[in-house]
Amino acid sequence: MDLGLAGKVALVGASSKGLGKGSALALAQEGARVTICARTLEDLRVTAGEIERETGAEVLAVQADLTTPAGVQKVVAETVARFGGVDVLVHNSGGPGLGRFADLTDDDWRRALEAVTLNFVRFVREVLPHMRQQRWGRIIGIQSTSVKQPVDGIDLSNGLRPGIAGLMKAIMPGLAKDGITINLVLPGSFQTARISPEAGRGAESDRALQAELAPLAAAIPVGRLGDPMELGSLVAFLASEQAAYITGSVYQIDGGSIRSNV
Ligand code: NAP
Repeated sequence: MDLGLAGKVALVGASSKGLGKGSALALAQEGARVTICARTLEDLRVTAGEIERETGAEVLAVQADLTTPAGVQKVVAETVARFGGVDVLVHNSGGPGLGRFADLTDDDWRRALEAVTLNFVRFVREVLPHMRQQRWGRIIGIQSTSVKQPVDGIDLSNGLRPGIAGLMKAIMPGLAKDGITINLVLPGSFQTARISPEAGRGAESDRALQAELAPLAAAIPVGRLGDPMELGSLVAFLASEQAAYITGSVYQIDGGSIRSNV
């Protein structure tokens, strides 16, 4: 299937590693020009080189701290300066810290609000004028299964991420009339550095990683963790021409972990 993404401009947040990287690579494989961003310049260089070599796509790497308004503005401004606009926003962030309610301070909540909620608000606000002008856009937010069902031990995520679904639904009709869709994907457990620092380090550490992750994998109906490229494929479809009638939706991608009916 030709997803109609050739030449489109895709900006992917928090994307030198993990789910952001998987999304950027999947979009580049479909012919999109991509902006990747993160704080660590060396990781960005390595990932940009990898995506360029594998796909031949044009990649812009921007160093930025996405928890600040200036960081978000910088990434959008540099994308527009280089590629002339933004067609696809894949919103992704470094994620809130771990922890249970009783151990979390006001400062923990404030930092998580910057990383999750304000980060989403700022990115959407910055790209909308560009999408509205061209009357076409795709916004895909990478959140977590905590939007649908609390995950044990991550109460910052449990408390804040469901609000992103509420906001997404609230703004969706106003975007639809300008040809802009907005959807969320909810990852369950994926093999990334957030789950284990060993993830993605090659065959030797991969054996140790599989042993470390075995109990977690056993609790997932399909019996394994997800590969970031599996999430990237879903993101690429939601960014496509074919997905024009899909908006205001949430898609869990979790190997069957969520047990609710809808
Ligand atoms: P990851 O592999 O650790 O990658 C995180 C990426 O975000 C890196 O490129 C990192 O680069 C960048 N980043 C972190 N903080 C940043 C900041 N302040 N400014 C700019 N870039 C930043 O993480 P992941 O597993 O892909 O997770 C991505 C998101 O999905 C997180 O919000 C996480 O909570 C959520 N999620 C993940 C899973 C999972 O199973 N992996 C499940 C549910 C939800 P730098 O550190 O160099 O900045």
